[in-house]
Amino acid sequence: LAKEAGRSDYRFFTADLNARALERLSFEGGLRAALEHGEFVLHYQPQVAIADGELIGFEALVRWQHPQLGLVPPNRFIPIAEDSGLIVALGEWVIEAACRQNRDWQRQGLPHVPIAVNLSAVQFRHRALLATVAGALAESGLAADCLELELTESILMQADRVTLDTVSYLKELGVQLSIDDFGTGYSSLGYLKRFPVDKLKIDQSFVRGLDAADDVIVTTIIGLAHNLGLGVIAEGVETAEQARLLLELGCGEAQGYHFGRPLPATEARGVLLHENERRQLSAPRLPLTR
Ligand code: C2E
Ligand code: MG
Ligand code: MG
Ligand code: MG
Repeated sequence: LAKEAGRSDYRFFTADLNARALERLSFEGGLRAALEHGEFVLHYQPQVAIADGELIGFEALVRWQHPQLGLVPPNRFIPIAEDSGLIVALGEWVIEAACRQNRDWQRQGLPHVPIAVNLSAVQFRHRALLATVAGALAESGLAADCLELELTESILMQADRVTLDTVSYLKELGVQLSIDDFGTGYSSLGYLKRFPVDKLKIDQSFVRGLDAADDVIVTTIIGLAHNLGLGVIAEGVETAEQARLLLELGCGEAQGYHFGRPLPATEARGVLLHENERRQLSAPRLPLTR
């Protein structure tokens, strides 16, 4: 019986593998056409100050609006785009689209907040990156500090000349730099001193398990950020209790379903409108002159 069960597990496993291999094959061919046909969209997830709910930024997250499959999440096509090299062109589109969108909102008189964009390691090491970022800023007219680039620990682990120079040039352009999924890589803390990054993003896996104010990992990351003079934001905050604990531990910024899901542009614009009203209401009133 055990043997049979084992064999059918194996069958399920191979069926699943085949399905994924097929998807990979069809995606490999489809991604380039999808880029040409404008099938990618950005959703924007709010980032907030926990204490008063102030909107402090958005993270742009790419989706594929597939004509048959519907909205395909990035985990299903980013790795394939990385393998095929298409991530460079796709990543360029993401940076340009995020800058354009942000500048459009600003021109409409909406609050100025940075939009964060994820960089893949392949894209980071491609020689076109600096020109892409500088070009997207110049073309959109967006101020550099309204663009944030999310790097990963694996990118910074390679402490070679190219990595050092790229990070320095990006910083010289004036964009903000954060480290995504912080704590999940083989953190060699040395790189934190070497690179001019601005902010650590506490990975959601640590936030998920957060249930007491003595959480040693979250406490350590927050302390590390403070001691190095870096900002810190928690990802994947799903409950009011997690938000309360984070604030108590000294992490004032958060992103997660508790505060807002990633939203299509029209809905993200609604969040900006709401923030505009909130800021006007909380602004100190000038005394009325008679
Ligand atoms: P990430 O950069 O760490 O983004 C956070 C992911 O967590 C997003 O998934 C977001 O929707 C999800 N999330 C946010 N709040 C919560 C929460 O409260 N609970 C839970 N369970 N999840 C939450 P998404 O959009 O599916 O993106 C997955 C990953 O794909 C991203 O992880 C990022 O690594 C990658 N990605 C997304 N867009 C891009 C892109 O434009 N370029 C590159 N290179 N990678 C991207
Ligand atoms: Mg990210
Ligand atoms: Mg993350
Ligand atoms: Mg991630």
